[in-house]
Amino acid sequence: MGELADLLRFFLPKKFPFKIIYSSDYWMVDIGKNSFAARKYRLLYEKLLRLGVKKGNFLKPLPAGDEDILLVHSPKYLKKLKSGGLSSSEAAAIELPFSPELVKFAVLSVGGTVIAAREAMKEGMAVHIGGGFHHAFPDHGEGFCVLNDVAVAVEKLKKERKIGRAMVMDCDLHQGNGTAEIFAKKDYAFTFSIHQEDIYPSEKPPSTMDIGLWSGDGDEKYLAALKARIPAIYKEFRPDILFYLAGADPFEKDQLGGLLLTKEGLKERDRIVIEGARRLKIPVVIVLAGGYAADVEDTVAIHLNTIKVAQKAQKRFFQVARYFREAH
Ligand SMILES: [Zn+2]
Repeated sequence: MGELADLLRFFLPKKFPFKIIYSSDYWMVDIGKNSFAARKYRLLYEKLLRLGVKKGNFLKPLPAGDEDILLVHSPKYLKKLKSGGLSSSEAAAIELPFSPELVKFAVLSVGGTVIAAREAMKEGMAVHIGGGFHHAFPDHGEGFCVLNDVAVAVEKLKKERKIGRAMVMDCDLHQGNGTAEIFAKKDYAFTFSIHQEDIYPSEKPPSTMDIGLWSGDGDEKYLAALKARIPAIYKEFRPDILFYLAGADPFEKDQLGGLLLTKEGLKERDRIVIEGARRLKIPVVIVLAGGYAADVEDTVAIHLNTIKVAQKAQKRFFQVARYFREAH
């Protein structure tokens, strides 16, 4: 039997080196005609299938339980969300048409990042085709974000004693204001945000480390700023897990920003963040966060590049280690 299993393994197509979390329900949410392109999730999923990633490599999230959401969010806010009781100004701050479906989407997105975090703890890496809702605060939502999926995942792993310390590498175009505030007084979380300074959010609660860049700065300044801190902060803080918000919105053709990064520049950003962490054996959870290029295909291509960088890093820094562990 052992021999047969070995033979089968030899003939079976190569397995993708980590799980990808995705739900077709992300597509079903009617969020109206605005720049939040949830369509990118579906397009990316289909592209991965076309590239040969097997359906078995995808995991479907379950909706997060109230108990988990309450690790970060206030009971009052959760109650308002579930009963449709937000005031008109509270609903307007989210900048998406408020509906029970939107709340369902947010709850499922939290579940997705939680599963991704569990997978990353087991396998070293996981990608959530979704998540990264960093503008959600404990008691209110903002800027397309209802619930802070990454913060909930950090608190859940912490509560279950699966991790001691977590790092959030937020490379979305926008500053991670919600995440910064949630972890402001919690020394077990290192929040890092590199963002465009002169756009939303106008108020930026301090992250553990903030790098504010300016409109027009481009690849060179962005990558130099990252390289100056990574991997130094990884080595100093030694997180047990790293959440990477791989926003596609620093892209030069993004409609919301002006950081002017090229696709190649964004790929280099991914390499610095992901390879730097895997080299130190830090488990990495990738969430997509923003991306509002005029052509959604650009956004999808940028996210796909991130997954390719992750795939390469995982093969290089994990599978080889596992091979030697199992073989010797
Ligand atoms: Zn953004």
